[in-house]
Amino acid sequence: MPSLTHVLRRTALLALAASATAPIFAQDKVLNLYSARHYPTDEALYSDFTKATGIRINRVDADDAGILARLKAEGSASPADVILLVDAARLWRAEVDGLFQPVKSKVLEDAIPAHLRAKPADNGGTAWFGLSTRARVIVYDKVKFQKTDVDQYEKLADARFKGQLCIRTGSHPYNLSLFGAMTEHLGPQKTEAWLKGLVDNMARAPKGGDTDQIRAVASGECGVAVTNTYYLARLMRSNNPADRTVSEKVGVVFPNQSSWGTHMNIAGGAVARHAKNTEHAIRFLEYLASPAAQNHFANGNNEWPAAKGVNLDNPALKAMSGGSFKSELVPISAVGMNQVKVQQMLDRVGFK
Ligand code: FE
Repeated sequence: MPSLTHVLRRTALLALAASATAPIFAQDKVLNLYSARHYPTDEALYSDFTKATGIRINRVDADDAGILARLKAEGSASPADVILLVDAARLWRAEVDGLFQPVKSKVLEDAIPAHLRAKPADNGGTAWFGLSTRARVIVYDKVKFQKTDVDQYEKLADARFKGQLCIRTGSHPYNLSLFGAMTEHLGPQKTEAWLKGLVDNMARAPKGGDTDQIRAVASGECGVAVTNTYYLARLMRSNNPADRTVSEKVGVVFPNQSSWGTHMNIAGGAVARHAKNTEHAIRFLEYLASPAAQNHFANGNNEWPAAKGVNLDNPALKAMSGGSFKSELVPISAVGMNQVKVQQMLDRVGFK
């Protein structure tokens, strides 16, 4: 005969087993997310999605290159449903490599402007959508130069900046996208001559990330540099006074306000080619394009929302841009597409 305590313990174990099975049922609704975004503020966004939909998110974090390599290695066995990448050149590359599946979503097409998403595929679907935007701007030494000296990207090639330019490597996707946009605006010949001018003006061989270029201007090593806006915003909002001092030493220009506007890059999302949970994937992208999510998503990394009509209250971005500025409207898909051409130009002019 089992003792009473034995029965009780057995009942407790059964109850435990029952409660342990509950999450397994919940696992029926899952979404496998491969993300190149690593911003703590994104966490709340993901848990809100789960609360609203009951769809649990399994997240794999890696950098852009790591995610692309993993998708290729996994092939059709890949569990990935949604992919988040930063930069148009990378999104275009992944599209061409067949890693995405074009999707049709009225919600996304209504929310995201046409120039911030992939060109329509043969089936009418869209391979990827921009979900936030970042401007690629010029910073300068306020002692040596003034705003009007660098109010156009073209001016970075002027002889007066000889030995003054700091910029990260030419083949980094952020630069490939900027140069791809320049190719759209100026045509390939003028763009190549401009790139040659940049090489002639370099203060040092390209090295480091965008933040390193800002620091090099602040330290006097160079007079002008190119950076994405969120790197400057991070320094402006840093808890470290030394970072804030760096940001105070440099001036910032949103170039080409009197012509085509400042170059905008995107971070974006796509449904994976071999997604098993396609419906959940589309629902997640639609959620990210909603006004509340857009604010959170973009603001978390000091970016601007991509969706129409969503305004953002970010003090650093506001201070930097003066509230509003003109951004270029060149199709970001064309920018991505130009990267092969741009890489050839870089090789010819010796832009490392
Ligand atoms: Fe970045």
